[in-house]
Amino acid sequence: MATNDGEFNFSEAELVKHTEICKNCKNIVVGKGNLNSKILFIGEAPGRNEDEQGLPFVGAAGKNLDKLLATVGLSLDNIYVANILKCRPPENRNPLPEEIRMHTPWLIKQIREMKPIVVCSLGNYSTKFFLANGFVEKMKEQLGITSLHGKVREMDFMGLKIKLIPLFHPAAIIYNQKLKPLWEEDMEIVKKEIGAI
Ligand code: URA
Repeated sequence: MATNDGEFNFSEAELVKHTEICKNCKNIVVGKGNLNSKILFIGEAPGRNEDEQGLPFVGAAGKNLDKLLATVGLSLDNIYVANILKCRPPENRNPLPEEIRMHTPWLIKQIREMKPIVVCSLGNYSTKFFLANGFVEKMKEQLGITSLHGKVREMDFMGLKIKLIPLFHPAAIIYNQKLKPLWEEDMEIVKKEIGAI
């Protein structure tokens, strides 16, 4: 089992390693990009390509994310990217509440170390996790991405002041091209918020 990140707290990693999806994956996918950046993008879970390479967003959704980021002058030089789950669920099924509970302490540790100012949550799982303030049992009470995308919310996430910007998941834009103009509008909002950092 390999990781692509140097330092991590053993106990958070241990939690991840105790999950069934971790026993069945090729790589733990920690994150990529610039850890000194104040802009964090959070997706859902690694897919097949991410599992193979041990890096997030390297498959079709990742290529789309790179393209979409480039339109507002962003790249991995100025953001960091991670996921709610560190391991690929079989057949890319949705994350289970227990998996989110076991995998997100590691994400929270990353967030505490990085101290992002702007967090862009990609898709429903990521958005609901932040809106529920990390309480997995409260995720189902949260509104979905269709009503929340592009709406900036200043919030206290576990003691850290962040600006949360919910965005459609880049994979959704591949399947539903009608979302592309909405993503472009939302990215203008991201650009404005980043400009203020
Ligand atoms: N989708 C995600 O949410 N994360 C990835 O890393 C790849 C695809």
